[in-house]
Amino acid sequence: MTELKVLLTRDQIQRRVAELGAEITRDFAGQSIILVGVLKGSAVFLADLARQIKLDATFDFIGISSYGNRPHPTQELKNGWDSTGEVKLTKDVDQTMKDKNVIVVEDILDTGLTLTVLKKLLLAHQPKTLKIAALLDKPSRRKLPLQGDYVGFTIPDEFVVGYGLDYAERYRNLSDICVIPRNSS
Ligand code: 5GP
Repeated sequence: MTELKVLLTRDQIQRRVAELGAEITRDFAGQSIILVGVLKGSAVFLADLARQIKLDATFDFIGISSYGNRPHPTQELKNGWDSTGEVKLTKDVDQTMKDKNVIVVEDILDTGLTLTVLKKLLLAHQPKTLKIAALLDKPSRRKLPLQGDYVGFTIPDEFVVGYGLDYAERYRNLSDICVIPRNSS
């Protein structure tokens, strides 16, 4: 049985998400925004964050996955996941982002590869502004120089699940964010 350790409780998460929502509301006062969720991990965060933003807002979703030999989840957990740098788009946004205020909503900022690619892709739409909201940030893992504009929590280099984040597609429905120890079976 996989052992899970709570890293961030549902109360801590809800409080921080409310603060991020208030910050976004202040920054874009009087304007409209598009929240672009990165599938699938950001779905829970987006749902909560959106309800803390008191602005005219629409949703869109984008899907991206890594090419090549991503290890089996057990190996990924033991050895970490070092991307080869190649990603493919599995779902594009549905609407044009031209001249819009776009906020990309991501579960976790790790090496920075995913968001570097997404930023480039979305900048091609010529948005008015492009910001990144990431619930979690693991700066010690960064390979590309990228920062979130709205970051929930900075965490150590641990493999986390819950609140949308998965391990082999499981645990997304946990309300707390938990660590799976790297030596777990
Ligand atoms: P990056 O491209 O920044 O390296 O990776 C971002 C993606 O890697 C996240 O959207 C997420 O899918 C995955 N990821 C990175 N760290 C973790 C983690 O600790 N737990 C889970 N479940 N996914 C992670």
